[in-house]
Amino acid sequence: MTNADHAGGILTIDLDAIAGNYRLLNGKCAASGAKCAAVIKADAYGLGAAVVGPALESAGCRVFFVALTGEGVSLRGVLPKAEIHVLAGPLAGNEDTFEEYGLVPTLNSLGDVDTWAAFCRRQDHRLPANLQIDTGMSRLGLPPGELDVLADDPSRLDGLAVANMISHLACADEPGHSLNRRQLESFTRARTRIAAGAKASLANSSGIFLGPEYHFDLARPGAALYGVGPVPGIPNPMAQVVHLQGRILQVRDVDSPQTVGYGAIHRFAQPTRIATVAVGYADGYLRSFSDSGCVYVGDIRAPVVGRVSMDLITVDVSGAPESGTRPGTLVDVIGPHNPIDTIAKEGGTIGYEILTSLGHRYHRVYSSSQAGRA
Ligand SMILES: *Cc1c(COP(=O)(O)O)cnc(C)c1O
Repeated sequence: MTNADHAGGILTIDLDAIAGNYRLLNGKCAASGAKCAAVIKADAYGLGAAVVGPALESAGCRVFFVALTGEGVSLRGVLPKAEIHVLAGPLAGNEDTFEEYGLVPTLNSLGDVDTWAAFCRRQDHRLPANLQIDTGMSRLGLPPGELDVLADDPSRLDGLAVANMISHLACADEPGHSLNRRQLESFTRARTRIAAGAKASLANSSGIFLGPEYHFDLARPGAALYGVGPVPGIPNPMAQVVHLQGRILQVRDVDSPQTVGYGAIHRFAQPTRIATVAVGYADGYLRSFSDSGCVYVGDIRAPVVGRVSMDLITVDVSGAPESGTRPGTLVDVIGPHNPIDTIAKEGGTIGYEILTSLGHRYHRVYSSSQAGRA
């Protein structure tokens, strides 16, 4: 979709806000002597890694994390000089790809350690890899039993270079959760047992806000860069990055006993003005917003009435002026009055899912004060 007039919605991504968010997080890390990386997996949380990556690099970021090898390969094309880390390990057979594109794998098991160490020995070259320890999330990383084996036989690491010892927090967005401290302790203990002297990385976005003892050498924020609030319950310190506008296609007046949309779940009790907006679940406007979400016409709230369809929603614009609701007009689907975290809550999900669900039918605009990028 290149022509804004042909699209049902306009998605504006504020690169200056992403840069400002990076600088805020980097400042917090720098205060405790840590570096700040950027996690740009899942196409930079849906916002476009090919544009967001270079914007973050311009803001001073030198270290990037992605989830998958393929993401690292694509990213190398736009970030020729950056340090690119892949959170997945090498699968036997794809080690060459890491070396060819200069990607740092994350070793998540003894099997990964052996695969990478053997590869390094074949190349006769110490290649960097992160070593991930499972400190309580039970998702990726060496489980405690494998950590014991490695501590007893550190020679298994011979030939490779441990770039960072890493682990991931399960409950960083709940500052009072006891698992945070237990993970911190278990991570600190693991560091004394293996790869002593290697750099360490534990904190995601929310982890940075748990305090300096969680920063270690390198923090790995993702969501906060894109405007998601890192600490639920306090005012969001991050700048909003996403502005999503949906286009009104048609307006009609309805009244009892009419209904609207699939399943006829919404009945009208009084005369109501309905606008049909060209955004639907195919665009990532979740079906769970049916009869519960809202858009804004300027400052006026317009609740979603009836079910979200694939390409369309219907909203109650009875309270909005006619001038703001003519066909062709844009309404705020994500904007100053309904930021990501607010609508995520309304849809029973989290900002991460709202971002990564943003569809590809929107006309995308990258706004920046820097010349050549708008
Ligand atoms: C996704 C991810 C991050 C970033 O997490 P945010 O909560 O988005 O800041 C950091 N580390 C690992 C291992 C991850 O999977």
